Amino acid sequence: MQRVYLDNAATTAIRPEVVDEMANVMKNVFGNPSSTHVFGREAKALIELSRKNIAQRLNVSPAEIYFTSCGTESNNTIIRSCVNDLDVTRIITTDLEHKCVIESIKDIEYRGKAEVIRLNILKNGNIDYQQLEELLKDQSKKTLVSLMHANNEIGNLTDVKYISKLCQENNTLFHTDTVQTVGHYDLDFQDLGVDFASCSAHKIHGPKGAGFLYAKKASHLKALISGGGQERGLRSGTENVYGIVGLSKAFDLALDELDEHVQHIKEIKQYTIQQLQDAIPGVGFNGLSADLYKSLYALLSIKLPFHDALIGFELELAGIAISQGSACSSGAAKVSTVMSTIYNEDEISQMTPLRVSFSYETSKEDIDTLINTLKKIAAKHQLQNA
Ligand code: PLP
Repeated sequence: MQRVYLDNAATTAIRPEVVDEMANVMKNVFGNPSSTHVFGREAKALIELSRKNIAQRLNVSPAEIYFTSCGTESNNTIIRSCVNDLDVTRIITTDLEHKCVIESIKDIEYRGKAEVIRLNILKNGNIDYQQLEELLKDQSKKTLVSLMHANNEIGNLTDVKYISKLCQENNTLFHTDTVQTVGHYDLDFQDLGVDFASCSAHKIHGPKGAGFLYAKKASHLKALISGGGQERGLRSGTENVYGIVGLSKAFDLALDELDEHVQHIKEIKQYTIQQLQDAIPGVGFNGLSADLYKSLYALLSIKLPFHDALIGFELELAGIAISQGSACSSGAAKVSTVMSTIYNEDEISQMTPLRVSFSYETSKEDIDTLINTLKKIAAKHQLQNA
């Protein structure tokens, strides 16, 4: 059976060019980057070249890039260190963040280390910008705003530049989770004005186990992992040299081919929307997902006009790998926080959310396979309700 992969927001296939680059390092450079002899210096040079390259691409200083193992570690380090070391006692965030942000903030709240305010979410999945403006006027507590750049479930884009400005004017720190947008947009962190951001290589056709965090110069974050003092003291542990090299290569490829990829993926997204609307009467889209400019172009969150708790299995049987949001281990679909935030119970009982996420490799044939399968599932529901 032909397999169709439409879950690129979960992870992407590593590019062969990245594998080659990493294999070359694995075979030829094994020194410990902390060693002062030539083997160590060779490994260290690769890390620093990668750092310089990534920093240049983001228009920041190499000293502002710290390599980590993943997006989760980057976000945890930033948020926890802001509270532990930068005197933050108030965090403004939302219920729609990635679990790694939600859970680290919940832990801080549970320990009584900071007051946490979760912004209202509008029906379209956007944050309430006006509420944020009002909240920031109160400067009695050192505040961190943590808002993701693109939502990983419905794709809504946050106006990061606007929020940065707002935070700067109100003496507030701003962290944005850019795991779904680094390498998908040509981001200039300096121009965006954010204090902290994060990246994960496996979301951009790089290796798993490599990522970085951006921290604006002189932000004085401190280590969560202590030891040998690697990553200028922020993240001890012998560096994942080939992972870092792979991350840098994947980032290069993503940005070098960005225009071409964006054009292809936008066409695929538009095609998917059109085909769905033709094939399934009543189909809708969650949040701002159908808007190519106000949402992440590589993701489409579909709202099927019927409830089907087993749709994940049905798609699996047809060879289609797709994400529905979260599912509990019994296999029964569980309503995600995002869906339960933007819909009421009644609305949820009449729909099924599906997250389709594309890459430069997604073809119209992949989409046709999806649409044909969904058409059959929709017809079955129509018959049941007739
Ligand atoms: N933040 C967002 C928005 C994500 O989509 C993900 C991964 O799904 C993460 C953070 C976590 O990244 P990682 O898988 O590298 O830990």
